[in-house]
Amino acid sequence: MSVLAYKYKVYKQNDNHVRRLEKYLRTASQIYNHALDVRRRYYHLFHKTLDLYRLQSHMAKVRKSRHEWKIINSQSVQQICERIDEGYVKFFKRENKRPPQFRGARKYKSVTMKSSGYTFNGNELIINALKLRLKFHMSRPIDGKVQQVCVKRDAQGDFWIIVSVRKENAPSRVKPKTGKTAGFDFGLIHFLTDSEGRKFNSPLPLFNQLKEYRKLCRAISRKKKGSNGYRKARIVKAKLDRRIANLRREYHWQLANELTSLYDVLCFETLNMNEMKKMWGRKISDLSFYAFMKIVEHKCAVTGKLLVRINQWEATSKTCSSCGHKVTSMPLKFRKWTCPCCGIVHDRDVNAAVNILRVGTSTLGRGTVIPAPQVGSADARIPFL
Ligand SMILES: [Zn+2]
Repeated sequence: MSVLAYKYKVYKQNDNHVRRLEKYLRTASQIYNHALDVRRRYYHLFHKTLDLYRLQSHMAKVRKSRHEWKIINSQSVQQICERIDEGYVKFFKRENKRPPQFRGARKYKSVTMKSSGYTFNGNELIINALKLRLKFHMSRPIDGKVQQVCVKRDAQGDFWIIVSVRKENAPSRVKPKTGKTAGFDFGLIHFLTDSEGRKFNSPLPLFNQLKEYRKLCRAISRKKKGSNGYRKARIVKAKLDRRIANLRREYHWQLANELTSLYDVLCFETLNMNEMKKMWGRKISDLSFYAFMKIVEHKCAVTGKLLVRINQWEATSKTCSSCGHKVTSMPLKFRKWTCPCCGIVHDRDVNAAVNILRVGTSTLGRGTVIPAPQVGSADARIPFL
C-alpha cells in the first residue's frame, strides 16, 4: 500500500470561472478566519484549548445557518478546522514560529475536499457545490483510489489540482542492491561531495538569475501597492519564482535518484539550517539542503535504501580521515590541507565526506540508526507539494 499525490494544472479558465473559483477560495478563507477567531476567543474566555472535534461540530452548525457558506463542502469545513489545529500543534512543538494567523482572501490559497463534493469525468474535475467543470491537463493517469482532492491557486494566479491516491498493490520501487556505502558532505562551493571524491554541483537557479530577480523586485517596489500595475508586476515575478523552484526541484530529484541507485547506505550530516542561514543567507536558501534531504528521505524509503544521519557536533572537517588526527581549527578558505601527523594531502570536502561515512557506519554497528520514515506515515509527506 502506498499513498501518492498527483499534481495537475488546470487549463486557463474564462473570467466567469475564475470569479467563481475566487469566490470559492474567499468563502473558505472566511470560514478559516471565523474558526480561528472562535478558537482564540474560547481560549481568552476559559483559558482552555477548544479541541478539534468541538470546533468542527461548532463550525458545522454555523455553516448550516449561513447560506453563502454552502458552497464549501462540509468535509472541507472539517479540513479547515484540522488545518488550524495542525498549525497550533506545530507551534507548540516549536516547528512553527507563530500560531496560525488570520488570512485574507488573497493569502488563502487552497481548499481540500475529502471523500465527497467532487466528481471526476475524464480530465474534468466537477466541483459539485459550484457546478463548475474544471478541465485539467492529465499529464499522467490517476492510478489508485482517490483519497482527497485539493484545489489550489498559486502566486501567478494559475489553478492546480492535487489528487492524493491510495494504491493497494503498487509495484515495488525497490532498487537493486549495489553493496556500496557512502558519506556525503554538503558545501557551498560544491553542493555535495561523496566519500569517493565525486562532486555534484547545484545549478544555483536563483544565483544565476539574480540580476533579473532584482530587476523584477525593483519593478514591484516602484508600483503603488494595490494598483493594477503592482498586481501585474507581481505576476511577472511569480513566473520567475516558479521557474527557479522548478529548476531546483528537478535537480534535487534527479540527484536523489542517482544517489539511491549508486549506494545502499547513505550517510549525511545533520545541518543547523538557522545558523547557516545567518552566516550565508541567500546562498543557503538557493541550495535548499533541507528540501533536498526531505527528497532523499522519501527516495530512500521507497527504494529500500538506508539513510543515516550523523550528529551535527561531529568534527568531520577537522579530523584527518586516514590517521584520525584532529586539528584545532579549519577555516573555510582552506580547500586543501596537509595532515601534520601523517602528511597526507586532503581535499577538504572529500575528507569530510569520508569522516561522515566512518561515523555513519560506526553508528550502524551500534544500532542507533535513524531510519528513513516509512511511506504512508505522517513524517513521509511527499516533499514536492
Ligand atoms: Zn593524518
